[in-house]
Amino acid sequence: GQDLKGRSVAVVGLGKSGRAAAWLALARGASVLAIDRDKKLCPLEHDPAFENHDEIRTILGKIDIEQLHSADTIVVSPGVPLDNYGLRSLLQSGVQVMSELDFAAKVLPNSIKILAVTGTNGKSTVATFAGQILNHCGVEAFVGGNLGNPLSELAYQYIKMPSVESEIKVAVVEVSSYQMEIPCEHFHPSVSIILNLTPDHLERHGTMRNYAACKCRLLSHMNNTRLGLIPFGNQLLNEAIMDYVDDFSLAWIGSFPGVKINTEAKIASLNVPDIGVNSLLDLGKLKAIGTHNYQNAAVAALSVLGLDIRIDPESINLAIETLMPPPHRMQLVHEDSRGVTWVDDSKATNVEATLAGLMSMKGRKSVVLLGGLAKVKDSQDSDGFEVLVELLKDHRCVITFGSSGKQIYQTLSASGLSTPCIQASGLKDAVRLAREMAKHGDTVLLSPGCASFDEFNNFEHRGDVFKELAISLKSSIESIG
Ligand code: ADP
Repeated sequence: GQDLKGRSVAVVGLGKSGRAAAWLALARGASVLAIDRDKKLCPLEHDPAFENHDEIRTILGKIDIEQLHSADTIVVSPGVPLDNYGLRSLLQSGVQVMSELDFAAKVLPNSIKILAVTGTNGKSTVATFAGQILNHCGVEAFVGGNLGNPLSELAYQYIKMPSVESEIKVAVVEVSSYQMEIPCEHFHPSVSIILNLTPDHLERHGTMRNYAACKCRLLSHMNNTRLGLIPFGNQLLNEAIMDYVDDFSLAWIGSFPGVKINTEAKIASLNVPDIGVNSLLDLGKLKAIGTHNYQNAAVAALSVLGLDIRIDPESINLAIETLMPPPHRMQLVHEDSRGVTWVDDSKATNVEATLAGLMSMKGRKSVVLLGGLAKVKDSQDSDGFEVLVELLKDHRCVITFGSSGKQIYQTLSASGLSTPCIQASGLKDAVRLAREMAKHGDTVLLSPGCASFDEFNNFEHRGDVFKELAISLKSSIESIG
């Protein structure tokens, strides 16, 4: 495992992924130069979690590209945009520049099959579902990447204890567009999925075209791929994949070959003759809220069948009942004493995700909480919330909150929203108003359609605060009084 002995690896960005990459580099025998612009971080050589302190040097503060020139390999964390610090110029200069994903994939044994999931919404859910199905079928799987543990952590484990190889059969990897900014050489998924593609993260990628290109890069690493799954009829994707379609055949989400879902009948047909898949999936027992989860479950099932490991489609059918999305995705919080149900979809950080959330609420009268920090859009003249108006029509009321609350309120009003709409200040105020407005049998849905950073550290924090507020009935009633 000491293949980098005598070499130096620079790691740019010391978040979770960067730290894991640094660990891996040390385990592979390299010396590490760790760089981050955040002066407040603990230098890795003073961090008790790290061994081999003599082999680490940390530079914090302003990032200067000259610092990187002495390194043999530069590993860039997903959190660091290539356009910062002139990193993009390094790509052309001949220095080896790798993403954290690729750095990890390089040392993973071929016996571990990779199932990669990207897309705008639903990545974590599909990755989690795939892991749960594998688990249920008795196949040991790692689930990580953009969610949970970075792939470098699995690679590290493997270097330190090669016996994990014999246990872990599949790595289910959630891949974000950020992780795909640098093309990979070693990351070869057996199954690759692009779930959907709608505007998001444009503050970093600039245009939808760049964003689509990042997502599609996943398909460029498909030389070992048995199954590539993409949504049927997505114009932008169709254009972007033109560069890649030569080497493999694709299957579709929403058509054949691929997976088609009958929402009414709660049945999915999985049909990809090329790889011998032809089965029906009964989604009637799915506990996860929302019809988008039919799709997530069906896609996860097909992707597992695409891995070419012995799995009986019948045991997959049995696994459906056990599927649970990760927290903050249409998560049932509780039903309060007045018969109001509280649902936390704090992970809905863009309008599309909120759209999916609202689709799940059809026929359940809801108080809908929208707001936070709205995302940058491709076209500058709208915040995108007008697309929600139709779905909001029959609900109890809409409450907007947070730094974009006023703007969303105005967009909805200008788009002819007939449902009562109230503007709150922050989330706490929004919950207070929601409690006043909700009637017996209603749902209060937090599916904000915005980032959380105006009030919270992240969407988890926002969701946790929402849950606390929703549950602490007493304090809220006092505050109403
Ligand atoms: P990601 O990891 O891509 O951000 P998540 O699984 O965390 O996706 O879900 C993000 C948000 O999108 C949640 O609000 C969730 O309810 C919603 N969502 C989940 N699956 C889908 C889907 N297939 N299409 C649209 N929205 C979805």
